[in-house]
Amino acid sequence: MNDRDKDTLARLVKDAHGRIHRCVVCGATTTGFGVFFPDPEWNVALGAPSGKTRHVIYGLCESHSTLPYDVLAAAIVKALEN
Ligand SMILES: [Zn+2]
Repeated sequence: MNDRDKDTLARLVKDAHGRIHRCVVCGATTTGFGVFFPDPEWNVALGAPSGKTRHVIYGLCESHSTLPYDVLAAAIVKALEN
């Protein structure tokens, strides 16, 4: 990831503070944000075209802030399906 990409992600996460108010897992008030970079399996589940990688900015509450990767990935994909 180059410096421009890092700056873009930092801006997107900063913007998320005003847009994302609910935990992606349970809907509680967020206490933090993250950027999900899916591995190839989850990238397909997110509907990304071949050769493209989607990233997702998400919010988490305090109790879900340390989820294992697969649990978090499944919650993000489920949230996007709804
Ligand atoms: Zn939660």
